[in-house]
Formats: sequence, structure tokens, C-alpha cells
Amino acid sequence: MAEFSLELNDDQKTMQEWVHGFAVNQMRPIAAEWDEREETPWEFIQEAAKIGIYSLDFMMNAFSDKTGLSLMIATEELAWGDAGLTMALMATSLGVAAIVANGTPEQVMEWVPQCYGTPDDIKLAAFGVSEPDAGSDVSSLRTRAVYDEANDEWVLNGTKTWISNGGIANLHVIVASVEPELGSRGQASFIVPDGTKGIRLGQKFKKMGIRASHTGEVVLEDCRIPGRCLLGGKEKLDEKIARAREGKRSQSQAAMATFEASRPAVGAQALGIARAAYEFSLDYAKERKQFGRAIIDNQAIAFKLADMKMHIDASRLLIWRASWMAATRQPFLNGEGSMSKLYAGETAVKVTEEAIQILGGYGYIREYPVERWHRDSKIYTIFEGTSEIQRLIIARAISGVHIR
Ligand SMILES: Cc1cc2nc3c(=O)[nH]c(=O)nc-3n(C[C@H](O)[C@H](O)[C@H](O)COP(=O)(O)OP(=O)(O)OC[C@H]3O[C@@H](n4cnc5c(N)ncnc54)[C@H](O)[C@@H]3O)c2cc1C
Repeated sequence: MAEFSLELNDDQKTMQEWVHGFAVNQMRPIAAEWDEREETPWEFIQEAAKIGIYSLDFMMNAFSDKTGLSLMIATEELAWGDAGLTMALMATSLGVAAIVANGTPEQVMEWVPQCYGTPDDIKLAAFGVSEPDAGSDVSSLRTRAVYDEANDEWVLNGTKTWISNGGIANLHVIVASVEPELGSRGQASFIVPDGTKGIRLGQKFKKMGIRASHTGEVVLEDCRIPGRCLLGGKEKLDEKIARAREGKRSQSQAAMATFEASRPAVGAQALGIARAAYEFSLDYAKERKQFGRAIIDNQAIAFKLADMKMHIDASRLLIWRASWMAATRQPFLNGEGSMSKLYAGETAVKVTEEAIQILGGYGYIREYPVERWHRDSKIYTIFEGTSEIQRLIIARAISGVHIR
């Protein structure tokens, strides 16, 4: 009889405390500054690399946890510290996830270490799918990859937009169309290694939140990469395309495979923000006096906090479930990955808004972190699949109907 427990084991508790300490000491004190500066926080990333949080080892340790919870726990703590700084660390893992999801074991061994570099020589990775005319509809990508057989090279042309670490990363994983008429089944993922010509940063975007994380356009102009940079290899791609031409289903789509794997971790970021706002507003509600009593003495405030806590805990349970399912290789038959990201993202927006309400005027000014948490939270209903797209995925999964 299998045991059921939601209690964290000793390793998980140790890691949680360690990352929490990092969030308290290294993230909270600098969060407002980097939000204002809206630049890539290189010193901070280096700091995280030195103590091992920004590293391949950290990710491998997290992934070796058979329960799947370690990465979720660590991510929640980091985002509790600050979501923008967390994204500055985690954007690399989107590229890594794409390599792991689509690459051969040899490609994973070759490229994943290059995504992080070393504490003295930090490297960043990026994952580029979205385009100006292809956001939610990833089947309509215009970026083209054409094979130059004579030189065994792929030639990439197109523009990717809103890419985290885009144009400043050392290594880009780019999803491009090889056979445009086949939609997403004619797409593949490519590594663009450090120093490749023909890839550059277009515009850098100014954002509402997560401003310590760089978001930019990636312009690909006759960008030539070696044949071995096609993730999964040419043979597999040819087979996939042949299957698609015959009208057979393929097992996975390049972009989708990556998003499936990373959704619970994105949800865990939203969870960390929500918890930060909840804890702050709970303390504030006990301290702040109006009409001669603490504002928490009013049900109107106390009930808000009760709801905030309930939605936060429900988010965590959905995230842990999805992550445990992924780690134990159970398919998301009901869109469980999407549920976790959708619920946590919407909870973060709602909870941070309520936190502003509880703080009143103090919630609205930049002296307090709550307005920043609200600005940071909003991206979690947009990127890695909008809330509407998550609902579509869940609705299709539970109904078997191709709902539009
Ligand atoms: C800060 C930031 C970082 C990002 N990082 C990355 C990254 O690293 N890599 C990357 O590839 N992309 C990244 N993105 C892009 C992000 O994933 C897209 O913005 C997102 O997928 C939505 O696409 P869109 O903005 O084109 O919106 P659209 O697809 O144009 O959607 C607009 C609205 O229409 C709704 N909608 C669209 N289709 C449907 C439908 N069928 N049913 C119901 N509603 C629908 C959407 O839900 C949304 O509300 C990032 C974006 C931002 C802002």
C-alpha cells in the first residue's frame, strides 16, 4: 500500500530554508532597485551562481527529486524574494527545458552546461517561440529554417518577440518552421550557439513588471548554424514531417513539449509572489489601526485574508500535483499542468490586488513593495500560455472536443 504524505522530506526542507535565506538576504534588499533600473542584474546572477543557485548542478539536483517538488519549492521561495530577479535566473531554464524536451542525450550533454557557464563566466540561455504575428497561435510561426545540404547547415530567418533574455543570451533555442504548410507539425527547435553571426537583439522592451528580467526582440538574418544544432536530429525531423504529410499524429510539437514541462514551475513563481503579498498584508492588517482598532478586526479585511490564504494553498496543491505527475511520468490527461499555472497566475493577480486594498494608500505607492508585486503578478496570466489558452487546453482535455 503506497503511503501518502504532503510533508516535505529533510532534503526538501533544507533546500527550502537555504533558498529562503537567499531570498531574504540577497533578493529582498535589491528588488526595488532592479525594478527601477530595468536592466539585467548581472551582479545578482553572479552572486546566485557563486552559491550554486544559478547552476546546472542546482537544476540537476532539483530534477533528481523523484517527487518533483524540489524545483517548485525553490522557485516559490525565489519568487517570494522577487519575481523579476527570479526570472533573470529562470529564463535560462526555458532554453534548458527546450533542449531536454527535444534534444538527443548527446545534445543535452553538449549544450545544457553551456547555458549556465561558471560563476566567473556567466552564460544565459533563451527560448524563442513568440513572434509579432504568432503568440498564442504557435502553429503560424513565420521564422523559417532552410536546410543547406551542401554545407550541412541550417539557415534561419525571422523575428522573435518578447523573448526573455532574447538577444543578450549566449545560447538561443529558436523554434522555426521547416515546412510551413504543416503548421506546428512542420516546426523544429534549433540551437543558435554563442558567437553565431546573423542573430541580434532588436528592441528591448520596457515593461509593467518583472523588470529585472530582460525581454527583447531577436532578429535572425541569414543566421547559419551547423546541422547538428537541430534538436533531435535530422532523421527524427524527416520522420516527423513524413508522418505529418501522411496525416498521422505526431507525439509532440516542438514548442508545446517545452511549455508542458515548464508550466508548474511558472505557476510556482506566481505562487511565491502571492505568498509575499499575503504575508505582508496580514502583518499590516494586524498593525494598522483605524477607528481605534486593528483593521483586521473587521470581517471585510479578515475575510479577504482568509480567501487569499485559501487560494494560495490551493495553488500550491495544484502545482505540487502537476509537478509530481510530471516527475512520476503520468500524462496530464485533464490539463493538470495548465490548471496549476492558470490557477496560480490568476491567484497572484487577485491576491496582490487585495493586498493593495488592505494597505490602502500605502499599497499604491512605491515605498512599499505591494504595488510592485501586483505589477509583477500580471505577466503570469499572459506568458507561457495566456489564461484563455490554459482554459482551452483543459477544456479540450476533459471533453475530447476540439473547442475553439
Ligand atoms: C515579459 C514577457 C516575457 C516573455 N517571454 C517569452 C519567452 O521567453 N519566449 C517566448 O517564446 N515568448 C515569450 N513571451 C511571449 C508570450 O508567451 C506571449 O505574449 C503569449 O503567448 C501571448 O501571445 P500574444 O502576446 O501574441 O497574445 P495573443 O495570442 O495575440 O492573444 C491576445 C489575447 O487573445 C486571447 N486569445 C488568443 N487566442 C485565443 C483563443 N483561441 N481563444 C481565446 N482567447 C484567445 C489571448 O488569451 C489574449 O487574451 C513573453 C511575453 C512577455 C510579455
